[in-house]
Amino acid sequence: MASRKSRQETDFVFAALGGIGEIGMNLYLYGFGPEEDRDWLMIDLGITFPTEVEPGVDVILPDVGFLEEERRNIAGLLLTHAHEDHYGAIVDLWPRLQVPIYATPFTAEMLKAKLKETGFADDVPIHVIPVGGTRKIGPFEIELVAMSHSIPEPSAVLIRSPLGNALHTGDWKLDETPLTSAATDEPRLRNIGDAGLDALICDSTNAMREGISPSEADVAQHLARLIREAPRRVAVTTFASNVARIISVAKATRDAGRVLVVAGRAMYRVIEAAQETGYLDKDFRFVPDTEFSSLPPSKIVALCTGSQGEPRAAMARIAQESHPNISLDAGDHVIFSSRTIPGNERAVSRVQNSLSDRAIEVITDQDHLVHVSGHPRRGELKQLYSWVKPKLSIPMHGEGRHLEAHAEFAEEMGVPQVLRIRNGDLVRLAPGEPRIIDELPCGRLYRDGSVVVSEEGSHVRDRRKLSFVGTVALSVVLSDKGTLVAEPEAAVIGLAEETAEGEPVEDLVIDAAIGALESIPRPRRKDAKMVADALRRAIRAAVNQKLGKKPVCSVLVTRL
Ligand SMILES: [Zn+2]
Ligand SMILES: [Zn+2]
Repeated sequence: MASRKSRQETDFVFAALGGIGEIGMNLYLYGFGPEEDRDWLMIDLGITFPTEVEPGVDVILPDVGFLEEERRNIAGLLLTHAHEDHYGAIVDLWPRLQVPIYATPFTAEMLKAKLKETGFADDVPIHVIPVGGTRKIGPFEIELVAMSHSIPEPSAVLIRSPLGNALHTGDWKLDETPLTSAATDEPRLRNIGDAGLDALICDSTNAMREGISPSEADVAQHLARLIREAPRRVAVTTFASNVARIISVAKATRDAGRVLVVAGRAMYRVIEAAQETGYLDKDFRFVPDTEFSSLPPSKIVALCTGSQGEPRAAMARIAQESHPNISLDAGDHVIFSSRTIPGNERAVSRVQNSLSDRAIEVITDQDHLVHVSGHPRRGELKQLYSWVKPKLSIPMHGEGRHLEAHAEFAEEMGVPQVLRIRNGDLVRLAPGEPRIIDELPCGRLYRDGSVVVSEEGSHVRDRRKLSFVGTVALSVVLSDKGTLVAEPEAAVIGLAEETAEGEPVEDLVIDAAIGALESIPRPRRKDAKMVADALRRAIRAAVNQKLGKKPVCSVLVTRL
């Protein structure tokens, strides 16, 4: 009976601390053991990018507070592939966790290049597992299964425990000609299904799209034709992480008898890692952008960062004619070999409009097949479900609507159980019927310049407010009797300089402050905080009356 009791206490569990309810910031946990003494396997540790509501924030990271407490019980961090939303947070968060990392050769190479920019590169234990390889990590037997995506060596992870197994897909699609790595390992996936799969934790990104995605090879063909037929210079912008696309552009450039000019540090890192691991020929020739001006227009293909309209990246600077080495003219072609991520539409169209205004031809995925997603549409999901036949499906890697579309689809596919969960939900996969049993703390961290702060109660909310209403600061110096020693000084930032009647806003602020001060009896002016509050209210009311804005207002009271 004793053994039966201990078996009941031991659970096989799953949770996401990022990635379920958003596309980005992926961080998944598989646990085994009783609640008080559970061993954890982390899968992926990614970032997401800020939008307008997080002004000035560099990147958003998952909150790993829970894992910091559990640090001694974490067996390792396994990476599915080298995309920022899956491994980009390691540079900021590894020092807090100090866990060993497991990755395929290409992912490990990319990680090492990234870690060079930190001070702790040599401290990180990186264990390389080949695609298709197996390994014991803590209580789990894991196996990497080859998938297709837009980067070399994307892997699904089969996690075996004494209580059952789970297949964690990572990012994937079906592509028989993915140009990087082998195609999805269909025979192995079928085997896994035939042997019995308890749980499938699966990519939901394109679960709302019907059909089957075109192959990366189709995109390569279109790019090659566009480059071959272009009369003058061609610039191609894509994600630096889209190694398949970079290879396609490189080959098309060579076939067209042109020279590849590479702009952007991120592109260099990828090309070097791809050469290091054999995904690009060692003798593949590319030149830095400093050589751009020495090449004839009909011989150039420039590969540039900035497909999302990022203002500091190469493409935006080319559009603004402020790039130090690359300039385009009327008749040149720019290919956006990428999808615009929701939230970036305005930045991207700003760049595209600037190019169009100068008679540079802009080609996007609306015009030609110059981009394809690396994620499964419904036709591909259907095939995977028919191969692995899971008893349970948990949709991941999606926003709410993607997750729901995936969940409904899995039900239509006849999966016996579908669990709809969100970040923080702890699911007991086994023993017994899978269900949510607990909630783990989760959240977001902001990297803001050189500090990392918690989203909760962060200064970023104030910064966002400042961007809408501006700020007013006022300084008053009072004698010990409570009279003004000098005219108050005001600073107004981010507001109109004058009212509609032409009164300087600074004067308005100072008059409001003096008026408010005069209405306070002198003996009561000893209370500096009370004075500051009264002046602040008066200033905000006056500015609101004249400008229709309630600025962030600070009042500094000095008493002599
Ligand atoms: Zn990916
Ligand atoms: Zn992803």
